[in-house]
Amino acid sequence: MEQIPMVDLKSQYLKIKDEVDAAIQEVLDSTAFVRGEAVSRFQRHFEEYLGVKHVIPVGNGTDALQIALMSLGLRPGDEVITPTFTFVATVEVVALLGLTPVFVDVDPYTFCMTPEAVERAITPKTKAIVPVHLFGQNAEMEAILKIAENHHIFVVEDACQSIGSVYKFSDGIVKKSGCMGHFGCTSFFPSKNLGCFGDGGALFTDDDDLADVARCMANHGMKVRYHYDRVGVNSRLDSLQAAILDVKLRHLDEYISHRMASASVYDKGLSDIPQVVIPRKSSRSTHSYHQYTIQVPAGKRDSLQKILRENGIPSMIYYPIPLHLQKAYGHYGYKSGDFPVAERLSREVLSLPMHSELQDDVSAFILQKIQEFFAESV
Ligand SMILES: *Cc1c(COP(=O)(O)O)cnc(C)c1O
Repeated sequence: MEQIPMVDLKSQYLKIKDEVDAAIQEVLDSTAFVRGEAVSRFQRHFEEYLGVKHVIPVGNGTDALQIALMSLGLRPGDEVITPTFTFVATVEVVALLGLTPVFVDVDPYTFCMTPEAVERAITPKTKAIVPVHLFGQNAEMEAILKIAENHHIFVVEDACQSIGSVYKFSDGIVKKSGCMGHFGCTSFFPSKNLGCFGDGGALFTDDDDLADVARCMANHGMKVRYHYDRVGVNSRLDSLQAAILDVKLRHLDEYISHRMASASVYDKGLSDIPQVVIPRKSSRSTHSYHQYTIQVPAGKRDSLQKILRENGIPSMIYYPIPLHLQKAYGHYGYKSGDFPVAERLSREVLSLPMHSELQDDVSAFILQKIQEFFAESV
């Protein structure tokens, strides 16, 4: 079998080529490359899709997180609680703004921060919580929102991997990922579930005042042209990316359904292997499977990855070192052993090929190689 891709953007593009090419051509003809009609159209459609009042398109997911935090009026030294098991961007922006990241451990099965750990990490200096809906599944938002409300602190959701998944509250209300906190942030990096053909991102909120501040922050702190109310940044989604995203948004739910179907093929093929822990579903959240991530304990993860590679099967380790043990974040004083779940996960997780174009014969081949590996290694 030829080399299998981790993510197949080519086949995905070819299926919607006519729609995408026409949308790109329309922007080229308009020459409105920045702040064009394509951007406001996508913004409107994304607001409708999410069921949220304000979408603020920006340059990438990291900017979205940074602008969200910049809009909350926090002061240097204020504490922001984040999981240690996440992509660096979540924490990087906290550090860049002079805020203090306070790490917490994650749930061993859903990979998301636990409300119990959040509660324990609260101090009088805590001003915000940044839950990360890792791999496509929402953190336990009902409990996290309750903690935030009790302590009068902000919640900024990192929904960079979870766009399109939904969370059900105990009263039956269903909300889209990223639409539960004060701000939600997402990324349109090409390999994300809703990806563009370059960089892009957005933050969203139902709060009119926060939306005003965030829009101003993303545009040099400017509300009236050449009048600067705040120190801001320059971050925007360009019209070409917005036009592409507007097309792909129409297909997002199909893409997620395909990922879910591929995940259940993996689930079935792996559930009989005692040495493999398959991703567990939260009872409250759907899973958009940005990643399909298994756990392979007992030191076998790296040898499995090697065998897969020899058979043309890629796999990735998200994430090999938790953030509290990274050099750049060493001065916050954490040490090995502080977050045992995250530290164990970093040694045991393995993400398998997962995308909207994954075919059953390919996943069958991947499953066969994993099954053979464990049959031989007992
Ligand atoms: C991708 C990602 C980001 C950053 O998005 P960019 O668009 O690459 O800046 C932030 N947080 C998480 C969890 C991500 O997966």
